[in-house]
Amino acid sequence: MTQTKLHQIEMVWQPLELTTAHPFGISYGTSDKSHNVLIELRFKDFVGLGEASPASYHSETPETVNAVLTVLSKAGVLGDDPFAIAEVTRRMDKVVAGNASAKAGIEMALHDLAGQIANQPTYKMLGLSGLAQPITDFTIGIASLEMIEVKTEQAIGAGYKVLKVKQGTDFDREIIKRVRKVAKDIPLRVDANGGWTPKQAVEMSKFLAENNVQFIEQPLPKFAHVDDFRFVKERSPIPIFADESICKAIDVARLAGAIDGVVVKLAKTGGLLEALRVIHTARAHSLQVMFGCMIESSIGVTAAVHLSSLCDYLDLDGALLLASDPYEGAEYKDGYLRLNDRPGLGVRKRN
Ligand SMILES: [Mg+2]
Repeated sequence: MTQTKLHQIEMVWQPLELTTAHPFGISYGTSDKSHNVLIELRFKDFVGLGEASPASYHSETPETVNAVLTVLSKAGVLGDDPFAIAEVTRRMDKVVAGNASAKAGIEMALHDLAGQIANQPTYKMLGLSGLAQPITDFTIGIASLEMIEVKTEQAIGAGYKVLKVKQGTDFDREIIKRVRKVAKDIPLRVDANGGWTPKQAVEMSKFLAENNVQFIEQPLPKFAHVDDFRFVKERSPIPIFADESICKAIDVARLAGAIDGVVVKLAKTGGLLEALRVIHTARAHSLQVMFGCMIESSIGVTAAVHLSSLCDYLDLDGALLLASDPYEGAEYKDGYLRLNDRPGLGVRKRN
């Protein structure tokens, strides 16, 4: 009698320290470091790669990621079937609530693994196109007005075709004027990261519309009431998107009618499958969709690019902001992030 050896998916992880080319400022603070976690899933001869990008404003740190990965690993959530990704996410949610970035790191590594075994890129495994996708923007973080001008000049010089400008300071209008002066007629969008009151948001929306800004992301704090979002949306001449306030599909249903669009991120949804549910729920409510990311390497960004054909806007500049990206995957060219045709996520260590 022959015995079949059962293969379990094994997980190892280690810190992935990233440094941005410039200190990166948003309304929550400024840093030039991102303390991410690299996840490897091993199954037979295959290795799937994933990345967790914890953010303190979503209640995650490298320490919580490490603790959650330890708990999930000991609980045996990965099992022995790399294709049963939805089942693994269900098991993870049963063992630990929340902690989306840790779970996203595991889930994207499973997609990488499954794609490699099937010898197909992840977007094809999901029934999607790898070609048609919007241009990605490039973010100008909060800095001194002089530095903002320099950064805008550099971004235009590097060929970026759409800029996203961080707001939530006491000199927001000056920032826009400086960026507009350098960027001329390039499309701009704005992210306040929860930095305004409803009244400020309405006032700013009029000023931003006059300065030809496309839309505003997260004008109000993460836990702002749905009526406050509606107050702003009904008075703003330009669309209002929610980012921090939208993590899962259920949040889309809660805020629908009070916003015009949602920002999807793997570090909030906990992986590609819930990101698909967020996108479909948004579409069911006639909302626009932007896909965003944290400061992350080409592993996390490329995982997001596999879903980009479903989106109206992309804000996937996390790896482009780095001083050096330790991984390669989707390549930036002429505004677009282009997927390669390697199986799985198509990411590997940069030589
Ligand atoms: Mg945002």
